[in-house]
Amino acid sequence: MSILVVGSVALDTVETPFAKVEEVLGGAASFFSTAASLYNQVNLVAVVGSDFPEEYLDFWRSRPVNLAGLQIQEGQTFRWVGRYHMNMNDRDTLDTQLGVYAGFHPVIPAEYLDSELLFLANIQPELQLEVLKAAPHARLTVLDTMELWIMTAREQLTEVIQQVDILLMSEEEVHQYTHCASILAGVRALFALGLKYVIVKQGSYGALLFGADGTYFSAPTYPLEEVADPTGAGDAFAGGFLGYLSTVEPQADGRYAAGDLKRAVVHGNLIGSFACEDFSIARLRTLTIDEIDARYRRLVEYSHFDPDWRI
Ligand code: AMP
Repeated sequence: MSILVVGSVALDTVETPFAKVEEVLGGAASFFSTAASLYNQVNLVAVVGSDFPEEYLDFWRSRPVNLAGLQIQEGQTFRWVGRYHMNMNDRDTLDTQLGVYAGFHPVIPAEYLDSELLFLANIQPELQLEVLKAAPHARLTVLDTMELWIMTAREQLTEVIQQVDILLMSEEEVHQYTHCASILAGVRALFALGLKYVIVKQGSYGALLFGADGTYFSAPTYPLEEVADPTGAGDAFAGGFLGYLSTVEPQADGRYAAGDLKRAVVHGNLIGSFACEDFSIARLRTLTIDEIDARYRRLVEYSHFDPDWRI
């Protein structure tokens, strides 16, 4: 089962209180593709400039990442510069250079059209709408976004939300988009737009899965001794979530079993935790299924408790 992703591929300059890296591989689609390709074939739709290092393309060629939909255009690759605060959670965007994204229109190669899962990674909502129109046959559509689009492209973002099955949002973004003080009220407002599931990412505190059918699951996070760089953790989360889902079959009614969705959210958390251990995709690049499995088992141990109790 292959996964189509559209989103940014970027060169990031990231500064934390402890270290700085310049012009390393970043972008939502980059983290996603690297993570999800641990599980299954990823069909990437994005654009890079003529300055994009060949080394990164070679790396994706060594993985099941199809680059037929990656346009290489004359000009500069998208660049993003961010600086983290001491808590390694909050960050300031210091600069964004759209480069070749300024005139980008996604083109979906014919060989991508049978992709069963579609991930609309963080990118302008108008481009996400173009992809939804061009690839209408995906069995499951998942959307990610960011504060910038909530503030500057709310109407188009709402249009996208109305057309997808699952929305990923950070807790902060739920408040910003719905203007609700409580997450539950915010999620209810999001369900009114037709979503089947909402996943609320809580950074280093884990993630919550809400279903319009009443499903609720709180996935614990894997405790990390040290966070090197949280950039891309959300996209890596999506890669783990959709990557795992791509390995299971939906039920006869077309819906995924609750147990599979819960396991997928846990995979999201785990892959997000690995992404934080180094800059760029450095940790995801070397990650193995055995390492994911070991961390999965430890997380079960850490969060399981006995349902029976008495005084
Ligand atoms: P995350 O930490 O999951 O929010 O993802 C961070 C990634 O998003 C970085 O690698 C950036 O290159 C990318 N990014 C930052 N701003 C934008 C934007 N305006 N559009 C698309 N991608 C962006």
